[in-house]
Amino acid sequence: MVKKDTLLTTLGRNPQSHDWAVNPPEQRASTIIFPTLKDFEDAQTGKTVETTYGIYGTSTARHLMQALATLEGGDKTLLYPSGLAAITGSLLAFLRQGDHLLVPDSVYGPTRRFCDSVLRHYGVETEYYDPLIGGDIASLIRDNTRVIFTESPGSLTFEVQDIPAITAAAKQRGVITMLDNTWASPLCFQPFQHGIDISIQALTKYVGGHSDLLMGAVICKETHYKKLFNTSRWLGNAVSPSDCALALRGLRTLAARLEQHETSALALANWLKDRPEVTHILHPAFEECPGHEYWKRDFTGATGLFSVLFKPFSRNALAAMVDNLQVFAMGYSWGGYESLIIPFNPKNDRTVTHWSHDGVCLRIYAGLENVEDLKQDLEDGLRRLNRH
Ligand SMILES: *Cc1c(COP(=O)(O)O)cnc(C)c1O
Repeated sequence: MVKKDTLLTTLGRNPQSHDWAVNPPEQRASTIIFPTLKDFEDAQTGKTVETTYGIYGTSTARHLMQALATLEGGDKTLLYPSGLAAITGSLLAFLRQGDHLLVPDSVYGPTRRFCDSVLRHYGVETEYYDPLIGGDIASLIRDNTRVIFTESPGSLTFEVQDIPAITAAAKQRGVITMLDNTWASPLCFQPFQHGIDISIQALTKYVGGHSDLLMGAVICKETHYKKLFNTSRWLGNAVSPSDCALALRGLRTLAARLEQHETSALALANWLKDRPEVTHILHPAFEECPGHEYWKRDFTGATGLFSVLFKPFSRNALAAMVDNLQVFAMGYSWGGYESLIIPFNPKNDRTVTHWSHDGVCLRIYAGLENVEDLKQDLEDGLRRLNRH
């Protein structure tokens, strides 16, 4: 098989099916028509046409779905209107009233909010676990445990999970495993090779790549497809063909962009590590990052997002630093071409692990700007901070 960066330029294209144009067209449709009664009947059983209604996606979506499934080594892709919708759609597909769900304490905040509200109201019990639990997750599996959710590295705090140990324990008890693979993207971590059943990513981030797209994807093997598909269709999820075309465009340059994000993030993290204001770097490629050994063993690279823990300083000092940055901007999300920085406090979002750091935490996303300019921006910011 050709290498991933080559795959990215060839997947999800089929020029002979659309006048030999390099890229597939944006095919817009709600209604799909059936020339004969036989076509109409055959379509109900999926025999003749690939779609019976625009809500299931037109050929533009199918090109994207096929590309993502091949890239990850899965059979099928489902598309959702956001990364969060891909997560909630997956959980709803497999959980029933009375079920027990295991979720890492370092999970993406909105995922936690969904579990604590919607799932709780529908009678699903969520138990949070230490993201570094590894194979000991077996001791938390009950007879009614249906799903183990994972996210590696964790949002904001970057704990890398021992995914093979967790999926091995889950398999022994017939529990389904899901992974939010947004940070690594399919280029740096292969979910199926590590035993994951349901691979989820926010295409909003690296695949979109330009801060102008919201979309999520779930990739699975054939065995889990029907449940996911039916739940998604009954919920009424649909994505726009224009957004699918943007996601396909993003895929073409993903490898080149990720390489730059990885290099710049490592350069910034290494530079920050030696600053007197800094106490910890939470970047999976750093030994001091919890679970670093699993990153080294299981991942094929790093990407552009990491966190920095600082010594305590005042809110005014922090404002002096971040209010006047010239290149970095403050904003949620990441994965675009532009660098971002946000302060965060994980204390409020933990229920089973203890967050002991007292100083300021900043999450940094290294964009595609020249890394010397990024360093200078941070250095100027730290100078302003130290004046307070
Ligand atoms: C951003 C993000 C999501 C959600 O993606 P949206 O498209 O913004 O809904 C899910 N998981 C992780 C880890 C993310 O960073």
